[in-house]
Amino acid sequence: MARYDVVVVGAGLGGLTAGAILARAGRKVLVIERSNSVGGAASSYKSGELFVEGSLHETSDPHHPGDPKHDVLTRAGVIDAVTWVPSGAFYQARGGPIGAPLLMPDNFDEALVTLTARFPEARHGIKQVLGEMQGIVAAMATISQGRGALKKPREGLRALFTLLPCARDWSLSLSEKFDRVFGDNEAVKSALAANLSYFHDDPTTLWWIYFAFAQGSYLQSGGRYVQGGSQRLSSALARAIKTAGGEVLVRRVVSDIGLDGDAKTVTHTAKDGSDPKIVEAARIIGNAAPAALEPLMPADAAEKLSRGTARQTPSASLFALTLGLSKPPREFGVAAYSTQLLPPWMKRFADYGQGAALMAEEPGERMPPMSVVDYAAIESGVPAPPYVLSVLGPDLLSNWDSSDMDAYREKRGRWQHAIVRYLSSIYPGLGDAVVASSFNSALSVRQYLNAPDGAVYGFAPSPPASIWQSPLRSPRTAIPGFYLASAYSGFGGYTGVIQSAGVCADMILREG
Ligand SMILES: Cc1cc2nc3c(=O)[nH]c(=O)nc-3n(C[C@H](O)[C@H](O)[C@H](O)COP(=O)(O)OP(=O)(O)OC[C@H]3O[C@@H](n4cnc5c(N)ncnc54)[C@H](O)[C@@H]3O)c2cc1C
Repeated sequence: MARYDVVVVGAGLGGLTAGAILARAGRKVLVIERSNSVGGAASSYKSGELFVEGSLHETSDPHHPGDPKHDVLTRAGVIDAVTWVPSGAFYQARGGPIGAPLLMPDNFDEALVTLTARFPEARHGIKQVLGEMQGIVAAMATISQGRGALKKPREGLRALFTLLPCARDWSLSLSEKFDRVFGDNEAVKSALAANLSYFHDDPTTLWWIYFAFAQGSYLQSGGRYVQGGSQRLSSALARAIKTAGGEVLVRRVVSDIGLDGDAKTVTHTAKDGSDPKIVEAARIIGNAAPAALEPLMPADAAEKLSRGTARQTPSASLFALTLGLSKPPREFGVAAYSTQLLPPWMKRFADYGQGAALMAEEPGERMPPMSVVDYAAIESGVPAPPYVLSVLGPDLLSNWDSSDMDAYREKRGRWQHAIVRYLSSIYPGLGDAVVASSFNSALSVRQYLNAPDGAVYGFAPSPPASIWQSPLRSPRTAIPGFYLASAYSGFGGYTGVIQSAGVCADMILREG
């Protein structure tokens, strides 16, 4: 039986990043992935002539020294293996309480100028909120180094002092924080967080401190896209593992995790369940969702894992409609790389939360909030024609009935039709230019990523009940020798996943 220092279940960003750091540190690593290729959500592929980006609209710039991905991707050996293309302005926000389009810059200084010019009555609040976000980003960058921060005690203390003024607001949701600062100025709240679906689906349950950190990371460094598609990053990580002597298997499904004693085992099979193979592992990292890992374990271990995450609820899901157009989107008036379309029915910022459940019904007057990306607007390396327009919005697994797949596809088709009609009402002529399309729903997320709840960001980034309750999740589990490296072991999104995969690898390396 082959024996490994570390076996990783799943080749999403979390599994690949942890695997690459460990392999480069001399550990014998095996990564096992059930899909045809590595990457999980961080994948891009062709569907006929259409290029489909599985996830990435933008991430903060890993080359910025304060970015949480900087050190981790450097140690994984891939920070320069791909080109991180600037996405220009952060986003154009329009509709809902905002009204006319507003171009949100990709840095704190210009964001302050732009927002103050547009909402002069809220200038004190804007300055306060952006200032707090800047402080939180800087402090979190130090704190997220964990024990590493102790090596520079002065910086660690400075970070804690920066966070002290935030203590009063520690347990607030984003909408509570914005209500405190901006009162009933719904337009400025909506402009500051128009891209909410990058993090969550409801401002009333999104932790203000997490929003400040995540949104602030974009405003610290600007947004970036991986030139040529997110698959390039995932493939580079897989290459780094192999170059360091590790192995990456695709089309192999982990069907059993044995956790008895020191010598743990992992059984993997072909997709149809045939050809079982068993390997031994000193340590196991779960990159797949905990709810998908539990059924593979002995009952007592599954119970421990589920108890450890019992207080957490799954994060939001997303629908992702990819449209292939015969002409570049700018010819129809799409004016930025990233556009955040808030629907006309959204009168208050907190109304955003009603968007996720809309697809439970047939399409009607109300469209969900949408995040639209025009890959032809930057040097994305996305092949064209057809010109790729990616439309994302909040979705729920409960919106879709998987018991009748024909009925599911028909309903999804009606939603696609309605979304294209809605986009055409904003960008005249766009609908007639659609020559190819692909529509993934929360149900697709469950099927393709084996994420039982359809969650795309791990556990929901909800506010902690009190300042004494730690909101920070950990790769460590109650099962000795079993770790998590995924959106579920920290926060979701590229930054959160890569950051917590780095923490996971360090934990294992420290243990010797
Ligand atoms: C449509 C969409 C748009 C997004 N946009 C952005 C964005 O613009 N910016 C951003 O930062 N984030 C974005 N995200 C979120 C981000 O992509 C994810 O949070 C992140 O990629 C999750 O990585 P992960 O490693 O935790 O998990 P996953 O990517 O889910 O990987 C888990 C892997 O485990 C494998 N697996 C499961 N079970 C088994 C098994 N039994 N055996 C073997 N393998 C198994 C799965 O096949 C999968 O490959 C988006 C996500 C989606 C879906």
